[in-house]
Amino acid sequence: FFIALEGGDGAGKSTQVEVLAEWIRAKGHEVVVTKEPGSTPIGKRLRSILLDVSSAGLSHRSEALLYAADRAEHVDTVVRPALERGAVVISDRYIDSSVAYQGAGRDLSPTEIARISRWATDGLVPHLTVLLDVSPETARERFTEAPDRLESEPAEFHERVRSGFLTLAAADPARYLVVDAGQEPEAVSTVVRHRLDEVLPL
Ligand code: C5P
Repeated sequence: FFIALEGGDGAGKSTQVEVLAEWIRAKGHEVVVTKEPGSTPIGKRLRSILLDVSSAGLSHRSEALLYAADRAEHVDTVVRPALERGAVVISDRYIDSSVAYQGAGRDLSPTEIARISRWATDGLVPHLTVLLDVSPETARERFTEAPDRLESEPAEFHERVRSGFLTLAAADPARYLVVDAGQEPEAVSTVVRHRLDEVLPL
């Protein structure tokens, strides 16, 4: 069973991933927690290119392709092998992040970005995508470390990313759970657990 957590920077994805993983493990399942970009040796190198402030001049198309390369490597060496042995995989970001950031956020076509990712992953789609939706203002208040290259983007960029995620979720409500991530973390995880109770083959 494959779960993706999506949302803007500061939505609280990493906290929710850990809470969910513990909850599913307590039910006796193997859980693999992973993230994009940067969960493989090649991916770590790609991540440093993608997020370093010195990459400010990276063209939008190369950026999209580097994310796709990171994802191809991730699916091939981490996600698919885990799913094949029956583990529950929780990924902090997946295809929708590319559609929202490189598509809606930049000036590239979200449909084309989705197509590149589909090819990169050989069509692997999550069973459930949880979108942690939060306003960029609330998210910004949560940043504790120095912002990386993307977090320094203007507010309008993050607004476009947010709408990009919401558009994806609206198009496929059966596969998405949209949660108001402006709430307390406990309230967010309760909503997610409720949905997982319905869909996880436990
Ligand atoms: O989720 P995490 O903080 O590890 O992501 C690192 C950075 O990469 C974030 O600032 C995020 O906005 C950015 N990102 C992106 N496009 C993606 C995935 C992540 O711009 N497809």
